[in-house]
Amino acid sequence: MPQEAYRELTAKVRGEVFFPGSAEYEVARKVYNAMIDRRPDAIVRCSNLEDVKASVNIAHQKRLKVAIRGGGHNGAGLGVCDQGLVIDLSPMKTVRVDPTSRTVRAEAGCTQADLNNAAQSFGMAVPAGVISTTGIAGLTLGGGTGYLTRKYGLALDNLLEADVVLADGSFVKASDKENSDLFWALRGGGGNFGIVTSFLFRGCPVDQVFAGPMLWELEHARELLEWYREVSPTLPEELYGFFAFLKVPPGPPFPEELHRKTMCGIVWAYCGALDNVPEAFRPVRAFREPKFELTGPMPYTALQSMFDAIYPSGDYWYWRGDFVAKIPDEAIKEHLKFAEQLPTLKSTMHLYPVDGAVSRIGRNETAFSYRDAKWSTVIVGVDPDPANTEKITNWTKDYWAALHPYSLGGAYVNFMMDEGLDRIKATYRDNYDRLVEMKRKYDPENFFRVNQNINPV
Ligand SMILES: Cc1cc2nc3c(=O)[nH]c(=O)nc-3n(C[C@H](O)[C@H](O)[C@H](O)COP(=O)(O)OP(=O)(O)OC[C@H]3O[C@@H](n4cnc5c(N)ncnc54)[C@H](O)[C@@H]3O)c2cc1C
Repeated sequence: MPQEAYRELTAKVRGEVFFPGSAEYEVARKVYNAMIDRRPDAIVRCSNLEDVKASVNIAHQKRLKVAIRGGGHNGAGLGVCDQGLVIDLSPMKTVRVDPTSRTVRAEAGCTQADLNNAAQSFGMAVPAGVISTTGIAGLTLGGGTGYLTRKYGLALDNLLEADVVLADGSFVKASDKENSDLFWALRGGGGNFGIVTSFLFRGCPVDQVFAGPMLWELEHARELLEWYREVSPTLPEELYGFFAFLKVPPGPPFPEELHRKTMCGIVWAYCGALDNVPEAFRPVRAFREPKFELTGPMPYTALQSMFDAIYPSGDYWYWRGDFVAKIPDEAIKEHLKFAEQLPTLKSTMHLYPVDGAVSRIGRNETAFSYRDAKWSTVIVGVDPDPANTEKITNWTKDYWAALHPYSLGGAYVNFMMDEGLDRIKATYRDNYDRLVEMKRKYDPENFFRVNQNINPV
């Protein structure tokens, strides 16, 4: 990074700028996934919109590579780059809830906890993911699936407007009314088109939920998966259950005899009226009694952070995903084989439902294409010990290769590693060409290229 650009940057921004050689830089260059070890030339911690604009202007002028960071949770580590400049929005965390219009405006540095803790005090929530420390920026711009998805859609389906800094440093708004083509591209196209500084979401009416995990012995996994694939799509949309293979954490509230045992389970979340819980769970109760159950009424924010302690920042992660519409018997056979080989305590496989409200939007209405999927599969190798990196990576890749033939062909963009252009095309399907057009219009020089890149050339 040229000296002159350094000087200009530090003089222009209100936020801090970190350079190699300082202890702060060593902390700031880290992202959630410890497998990512990159060294940018500088990291700017933006404190406001002006800082973002100044950073983009300087980087554009000096032709610096730029990585954008929100929550830093991206598995492929797209919130940091080697050389170049990291534009980190994590200090920008203002949330403003408007109870009259039932909307929530959140700056792009918010985590899901920042967003929904504020929204909950007004009896609202914005659909987001299953770990509260994930950034809303990367999550929303890729999709955003989670406990409220069957009832209220993806995070991006609840986006009403975005404030955006484009590659030339200009500021625009994107919504159905203004720059609607950009708004289309932002809803699934990730960080390809500009830096979103603020999101305006529709607030969904959510307060107490009835939620928690049920676990069964692995010997019942075939029966559970066969039951789940049939019953899950027929349940009321207020009831969401993601399927998991997991090893039981060695501590309370789990009974000691289950500690470290590989099991299968479903994490349920019911967002309808609590009076209706017994009726909604009737088909669930008709299945075999679980070996362990920890369900009950709780605030939505408690559910959102229920698994945070298992997955703190700094573990080594490798993951792969795919969308699926069916889970045939042959796929179940492969699932069972790889479940038995779960390589570490935190490694897991989840099937996240993406039916219900998600499927009522057309596949070309937003850049997010897989409206016909029923589940988003993610196979995740995780461990705190770097010595296990190869083990978790190989298990994930082998598991994914065995399951991929039963998928719809593409993955949720936020569950992708660096998997090449064909995979990106498979993710967007017939929306890809329009995304290229939008990239030519809004970022023709491919200034924003540290992402699942839509190449304008
Ligand atoms: C533990 C864990 C749990 C997860 N659970 C879920 C889940 O339940 N549901 C789900 O949908 N996803 C989930 N994810 C995936 C998550 O959506 C992605 O990792 C997402 O990229 C995280 O966003 P972030 O802002 O934290 O990422 P970052 O690493 O900060 O950013 C990732 C990329 O997003 C883009 N980006 C970030 N901020 C901006 C911005 N302001 N403007 C433009 N582009 C930007 C950039 O391209 C950037 O490189 C999970 C991830 C983890 C690690």
